[in-house]
Amino acid sequence: MKIFKLKEELISYLESQNSNKTRSFVPTMGALHGGHLSLIETAKQNNDLIICSIFVNPTQFNNSTDLEKYPRTIKQDLHALSKIDCDIVYLPEVSDLYNKNEKLKFYDFNGLDKFMEGEGRQGHFDGVATVVEKLLRIVKPKKAYFGQKDLQQLQIIKHITIQLGLDVDIIGVPTKREESGLAMSSRNKRLSESDQEKATLIYKTLQFISKNKLNYTIKELKQICIGKFEYHPELDLEYLEIVSIENLHPIENYKEEGNNAACIAATISSVRLIDNIIF
Ligand code: AMP
Repeated sequence: MKIFKLKEELISYLESQNSNKTRSFVPTMGALHGGHLSLIETAKQNNDLIICSIFVNPTQFNNSTDLEKYPRTIKQDLHALSKIDCDIVYLPEVSDLYNKNEKLKFYDFNGLDKFMEGEGRQGHFDGVATVVEKLLRIVKPKKAYFGQKDLQQLQIIKHITIQLGLDVDIIGVPTKREESGLAMSSRNKRLSESDQEKATLIYKTLQFISKNKLNYTIKELKQICIGKFEYHPELDLEYLEIVSIENLHPIENYKEEGNNAACIAATISSVRLIDNIIF
């Protein structure tokens, strides 16, 4: 497994490789878990050369404590990546991707950022889009893999790559879960076992919504589910939205099967978790 810390070195290595090899890319912020590895496994099924990046991107954090506390486990990450035969790892420092005093770029997400994460985390998606654009221009993959766990991010990245005319297929990979149903997340490492157990309410609620589509209106379902969180004040519910997958705007009436998503953000013991279900 090749490891590069400098983009120039990565670019010249990639240029030296056989151009017939399909290049696929999995960007991450590290503290790798089964969710990240499932993106790489999916990429491996379809491509020849797998590139993974590990970079905790400062411009997408709107809370400096969250950035500081973000888990960093590079040694274990590299071990896990070599075990699943990742070909290349790009591990840049901030200075390799950002110039000093670089101004944040603002994107037009065509309203995809209007609700949910975009509402609660000002500037978050501009930071995500900035780093993803930089990484895609460096790696120039044919395919790039992103998790459906971050549904809004996935839809926004699909949108900007088309808008920017980048020649890459953005592929969404289903959310990998613990046996309890809790979505795997690097942030789970900061939760006690008992908090992880309590946090399963998030996925249980999402499942309840998808199973009860025919029994209740959207308004009723939202009321019932918000009530479930009121019984569990240790989980601070930030939002519970039922949206159209197409534009990520809250809906009052269901769309066709597979075009609705229920999305939740909640905080437990100062750890913010998000999850969603498509139905
Ligand atoms: P992160 O390191 O959190 O920025 O995530 C890197 C990539 O892994 C993103 O595309 C995430 O959506 C994806 N990802 C994170 N958690 C999961 C999960 N539980 N299942 C599938 N993909 C995930």
